[in-house]
Amino acid sequence: MTARDEKADLEQTEDGQDRPAAETAPSEGQKPKREYRIVLFDNWCKRCGICVEFCRKKVYTQEFEMHPVPEFSERCVGCQSCVRRCPDFAIMVTEKRDDESQTEEDEP
Ligand code: SF4
Ligand code: SF4
Repeated sequence: MTARDEKADLEQTEDGQDRPAAETAPSEGQKPKREYRIVLFDNWCKRCGICVEFCRKKVYTQEFEMHPVPEFSERCVGCQSCVRRCPDFAIMVTEKRDDESQTEEDEP
């Protein structure tokens, strides 16, 4: 097993620690993990990187022309920290409804 395979078996918990995926998966009786939709308004974004720096779940990457990209949106816990700190109101984070998650997963 490579280091990359081992990393894939880990998930970040609420406190930012890596734990084996099996330990963080919801078991019977637990609430399913909430999912969030992150929308970035590129026209308003001045690429300052504040959202990238302040996201404690490391959701964003910032590479091509310094545009923030919510590449790891599955890590989002909906804390709104990025939304509150964005000086240009360029981010919206909303909780996905059950029927929305279903539709997106069904898309090819
Ligand atoms: S904080 Fe707002 S303006 Fe700054 S990079 Fe993020 S989205 Fe763009
Ligand atoms: S809402 Fe919180 S966890 Fe989600 S992307 Fe913004 S700062 Fe990160």
